[in-house]
Amino acid sequence: QQDFLSFDELLNHWAKESPDQIALEMGERTTTYGEADVLTRQLIALFRENRVGHGDRIAWLGKNSDRYFLLLYAAARMGAVIAPVGWRLAPPEMAYILGDTGTKVLFVEEGFIDTASEVTAAMENAPKVLEAEAAFRMAKDMAPADYQPAALDDPILQLYTSGTTGNPKGVGLSNRNMFSLRKPSMDVAVPWQTYYEDDCILAAMPCAHIGGTGLSAIATSAGIRALVLPEFTPDGVLRAIQSGTTHMFLVPAALQFVIQHPLAKETDFSRLRYLMYGAAPMPLELLKQAVATMPQAGLLQVYGMTETCGTVTMLPPEDHSLEGNERMRSAGKAVPGVEVQIRSEDNSEVPRGEIGEICIHSPSNTAGYWKLPEATANTIDSDGWLHTGDAGIMDEDGYVYIQDRIKDMIISGGENVYPAEVENAIFGHPAVAEVAVIGIPSAQWGEEVKACCVPKPGMEIEAGDIIAYARERIAAFKAPKSVDVIPEMPRNASGKILRRQLRAPYWEGQDRQVS
Ligand code: ATP
Ligand code: MG
Repeated sequence: QQDFLSFDELLNHWAKESPDQIALEMGERTTTYGEADVLTRQLIALFRENRVGHGDRIAWLGKNSDRYFLLLYAAARMGAVIAPVGWRLAPPEMAYILGDTGTKVLFVEEGFIDTASEVTAAMENAPKVLEAEAAFRMAKDMAPADYQPAALDDPILQLYTSGTTGNPKGVGLSNRNMFSLRKPSMDVAVPWQTYYEDDCILAAMPCAHIGGTGLSAIATSAGIRALVLPEFTPDGVLRAIQSGTTHMFLVPAALQFVIQHPLAKETDFSRLRYLMYGAAPMPLELLKQAVATMPQAGLLQVYGMTETCGTVTMLPPEDHSLEGNERMRSAGKAVPGVEVQIRSEDNSEVPRGEIGEICIHSPSNTAGYWKLPEATANTIDSDGWLHTGDAGIMDEDGYVYIQDRIKDMIISGGENVYPAEVENAIFGHPAVAEVAVIGIPSAQWGEEVKACCVPKPGMEIEAGDIIAYARERIAAFKAPKSVDVIPEMPRNASGKILRRQLRAPYWEGQDRQVS
């Protein structure tokens, strides 16, 4: 196989090489590569009939679905742009994305038809709404279209950032962004990029985020089966593992649900070659539990963002040995094809071991944010380096230790405190199910550290006890000065903790300075 860099080339290739191999599976429904090739050409005919051409936008409203992935492949072949809309968003948030993208046709899963009507009724330039099953039935009666394949750098996918630090931003991604780090010629050196015919990758995270949609690039580049889970459930994931899924990606919060589920004890993890986890800080204690639960599975930490089209650094399974391995705290090294530098505020590289902003140079990097030229200019510098907004340290061997988001850093009495480190220290406390650490205003310290804890069912949390527990593990200035016990952790659809929401009541009427 050559170094194909687009859905179009790959679908042509696999339709010829292995037409009967399953490309997509959801429930009882399967689509082979041969069928996907024809069906995407028919979808292009359907796009045409709805006046969707090169550069035009379509959207998906529904759970994860093989239908969504086929629409993505079709759009990617001819250079239309698909924007999946998170089904957990509130109607005004959905309307914002549909309006922002200028979507012409919205494909809707049956269960979301009412939501779609509500959302589009209030819009000025509402898209045409097509129910997905009906649209696919129509497409299947159409003649496959001829088309001009998309150029490598044409956007084909517009994903919105998770909205953890502020409003979600539209990120345009191209075929090149999706495939340039997955060239098969790299396989020899990279075992986790070597795939076998029977491999199966599970799409368990929401497709509106790179952690859900990005996996389609792995499946398509390798010509393997993608198993689609409509929505994340811990038992759904465990059943998929039991039935032979070889690869998957989970965010830490999802992984925690999976390993704590009663079925986990009876599950055979031996065929799970790679469980990638990332997208949010991974508490060390949780990681140790995961290793202990599935010692045969290959755990792989990944770091990346929507803007880098997913993974740019990764920590391989061999760095997950339980005994005194400092590296388990790391997000690993740059993957082949990616350069990582830790830079200071003047944009120069800091010495190894010193903290700075993680900056990325990669062919997977987006060309920029949709309709946000200023944010683009603040993020991507003139020589193409992308500033992540994450603070990190790189050691002598190139391992990157993510500290936290620069925006979430707490400056207390002149010392920098990274919430993730404090959360890590508290996470192992027996009464704590979940913890988030924030900075609140303090006359004495500028900001002071507060821990917000969700207790385990039936457990009581004592503030003094949590503070003492933290002080045994980290420096006193990093330990919380106060503790809030909260019933539930505010998280966004990507499973990330919304610290800004926890902070808000304490900062009412005040501006929080972020460096
Ligand atoms: P927004 O940009 O809208 O605030 P977001 O940054 O959460 O939202 P994503 O693009 O989904 O949106 O997430 C990327 C971010 O996730 C990274 O910048 C980083 O902060 C975090 N992240 C990703 N991987 C890891 C990891 N392995 N460990 C810790 N944090 C991670
Ligand atoms: Mg971000």
